[in-house]
Amino acid sequence: MTTAGPGGTGPGGTGPGGTGPGDSGPLDLPPLVDQHCHGVLRGDLSAAGFESYLTESDRPAAAGTTFFDTQTGFAVRRWCPPLLGLAPHCTPGEYLARRHELGAAEVRRLLLHGTGIGTYLVNTGLPGDLTGAHETAEAGGGTGHEIVRLETLAERVAAGVRAGEEGAGAAPDAAAEVFAAQLADAVRDAARSAVGFKSIAAYRHGLALAPEPPTTADVVTAARTWLATGTHRLTDPVLLRHLLWLAIGTGRPLQLHTGFGDPDLRLHHSDPSLLTDFAHATAGTGTDLVLLHCYPYHRQAGYLAHAFPHVYADIGLSLTHTGPRAAAVLAAFLELAPFGKLLFSTDAYALPELYTVGTAAFRTALGEVLTGWVRSGAWSEADAVRVAGLVGAGNARRVYGLSGG
Ligand SMILES: [Zn+2]
Repeated sequence: MTTAGPGGTGPGGTGPGGTGPGDSGPLDLPPLVDQHCHGVLRGDLSAAGFESYLTESDRPAAAGTTFFDTQTGFAVRRWCPPLLGLAPHCTPGEYLARRHELGAAEVRRLLLHGTGIGTYLVNTGLPGDLTGAHETAEAGGGTGHEIVRLETLAERVAAGVRAGEEGAGAAPDAAAEVFAAQLADAVRDAARSAVGFKSIAAYRHGLALAPEPPTTADVVTAARTWLATGTHRLTDPVLLRHLLWLAIGTGRPLQLHTGFGDPDLRLHHSDPSLLTDFAHATAGTGTDLVLLHCYPYHRQAGYLAHAFPHVYADIGLSLTHTGPRAAAVLAAFLELAPFGKLLFSTDAYALPELYTVGTAAFRTALGEVLTGWVRSGAWSEADAVRVAGLVGAGNARRVYGLSGG
């Protein structure tokens, strides 16, 4: 089966980049659904700026080292240069010079057109001059939908209430009640156009939150305290938990950050198994939970997807950052998680290169793992092709209620 990547110049999924390891016939992938991704930067980047997006750290590389010397850096140099007319594995300097020569818009077009992604579920609400959901999808010739980040929504509502309070001199309790009412409206409104919500409670507080919804009195008390502090950033555990339950109430899938991914988290507080009681508490609601990122707790995420019908696991970022080891990581996801419960994504952010690397890592790892299992006789080729289509697109289409496919 073909594991061509970053390719995907259509349903056949074959494109530039050649075939991957274990080639033994076509692996027919439909246009992919990237169920967790972000906009890309509109402007050009300096060399240091570019390098800063190759890592999940927000700090510079250690003295005498470079983030190009990582699995992600090597993957960029493997998959992206051919799409810009250069040889694979050219030097970072050659690549960045070519990138500069072409300009950000042309690089975006060349890279995004080669991914084979047909649908982008773009998580908005991040800082920076980033392309929006439709603009990102348009650059890749696909369709875009929005996933709304809950904490950003709450911070926006709080800023509006604070501004109004200053003008009107409202009592703190009244302001907290206004905030609670406006927040509920904002989440409900967002659910009309967005296809899902995302929570970053994992790195605002940690996932060890009480599983049940907070009482209205608790929400008002917490809101009063938060509004009084004047801090923009929402970290209050009662309000973070309240947001989860507001989202659950809409019926839209709720994505939860778990595992690695952002520098301000405490890794052990983002272990998805900390969500076990929340999974129990939400089991009868009819709303699906999608565990994002997961690594290095991808086995725990696979277990939760195994145990709870409404829990799904995202294989994105884990594959983007693990280079040739992505096959081993994907195989671990596939140990316990039912095949209808795993979802492809790139978690690409800022650099279009991360869309290229994310899709190439997925195609390569998937081809390598499934080809091995077909060769050993464990799986039939027809089943391998069917499962590849589910993980790459079908599962996300079903979970998010997307048409087409
Ligand atoms: Zn993300």
